[in-house]
Amino acid sequence: MSARTLVLGGGFGGIATAVELRRLLGDDHEIVLVDRKPQFTMGLRKLWELVGHGTFADGSRSRVLLARHGVEFLQTEINAIDPSGRRGETSDGWRDGDHLVVALGAVSRPDLVPGLPEHGHDVWGFAGVPAAAEALRAFDGGRIVVLIAGAPYPCPPAPYECVLHLHEHLLARGLRDRTELAVATLQPMLMPNAGRDGSEWMGQQLTERGISYRLGAKTERVEPAVVVLADGEMPFDLLIAVPPHRPPAVVADSELTAGHGWIAVDAGTLATSHEGVYAVGDVTLIPLANGLPLPKAGVMAELQGTRVARAIAAELRGEEPPAPFDGSGFCPIELGPGSAALVEGHWYAEPEPVVTVSEPSAAHAAEKAAFETEHLERWFGA
Ligand SMILES: Cc1cc2nc3c(=O)[nH]c(=O)nc-3n(C[C@H](O)[C@H](O)[C@H](O)COP(=O)(O)OP(=O)(O)OC[C@H]3O[C@@H](n4cnc5c(N)ncnc54)[C@H](O)[C@@H]3O)c2cc1C
Repeated sequence: MSARTLVLGGGFGGIATAVELRRLLGDDHEIVLVDRKPQFTMGLRKLWELVGHGTFADGSRSRVLLARHGVEFLQTEINAIDPSGRRGETSDGWRDGDHLVVALGAVSRPDLVPGLPEHGHDVWGFAGVPAAAEALRAFDGGRIVVLIAGAPYPCPPAPYECVLHLHEHLLARGLRDRTELAVATLQPMLMPNAGRDGSEWMGQQLTERGISYRLGAKTERVEPAVVVLADGEMPFDLLIAVPPHRPPAVVADSELTAGHGWIAVDAGTLATSHEGVYAVGDVTLIPLANGLPLPKAGVMAELQGTRVARAIAAELRGEEPPAPFDGSGFCPIELGPGSAALVEGHWYAEPEPVVTVSEPSAAHAAEKAAFETEHLERWFGA
């Protein structure tokens, strides 16, 4: 039976869904993937571009290349989603599918913090990174603050990877001894998703390198050269921020979101409350047994997209549904250019997620680089 799957969003989740669907279904299954941007680039490139370890261009690939998997790519804005009709309104008109997969990610919103757009740098959105990199190149010593101003945000350990990269970068430029480095997070521990042990481990990494940190720091506003917190102030010469994140407006305006503003899905099937409509990745919020949300990460979006593709293929072939997504995943945390620790989590475990952090090694750093290379080759070709 021929059918069409419409995938909204061409990031980790959307591409994984489309490529797995093609692997499982014959050419008469139509797969349409919509994204406003012509190119795919991984989030990890933002930190590499910031500290000069790589460029966006080196890690970017055209989504048109997904044609090699028989995926039709439409580069256009999605202006509305009608989940009951399993369709989306693009700048080129309505497109529909027998199945609809929403993989539109989370949007960085520096505008939600007064003064942040004017006085700080948003490195969680691609657009803000070049100006931050330029400000870092011009930096000649003083105080750098990495500020987590909202949660949940994509890749919970990445702000700490950011400050550890900054530490190595300043060492290499001979500026570390005249720079104070500090991290401030609104959360009660450094990495709530990695539990108390994981947070203490990260605290130790920061302390060993002379990086100070402040917990429970609620940002009220940013003024020139100072972050105003609910209980104090943090002066800075350079402010690198992780702004609050929200679902894209087109999702917020749809009938898909739950009370918390994100798309609610079944934790195992990623099905929404609308028949034939799934959501994967950062645009969803999946509560865990300890009340925290499942970490927003590319690896999670990919695993979820793969599971959704298998479910759609099984349904179309009249087969049993695949095993549910089990909330397990792993990701190397970079501690600088040549060292990384591996975080492995079973986030659906009860009564608490089970998370381990391995000893840092050069091998795990190589795994992180290989993660990008392998995905780009598999999805877009050599
Ligand atoms: C600094 C940093 C480092 C990171 N490092 C890692 C890492 O090492 N490992 C890891 O697993 N994850 C990492 N992440 C997280 C990872 O980037 C995200 O979790 C992942 O991209 C989420 O995938 P997604 O498919 O849900 O959404 P996205 O990848 O954000 O894709 C959503 C897509 O939807 C498109 N879109 C949105 N709205 C519209 C619209 N209205 N019309 C058309 N198109 C639209 C966007 O253009 C985008 O391409 C990192 C993130 C950051 C910021």
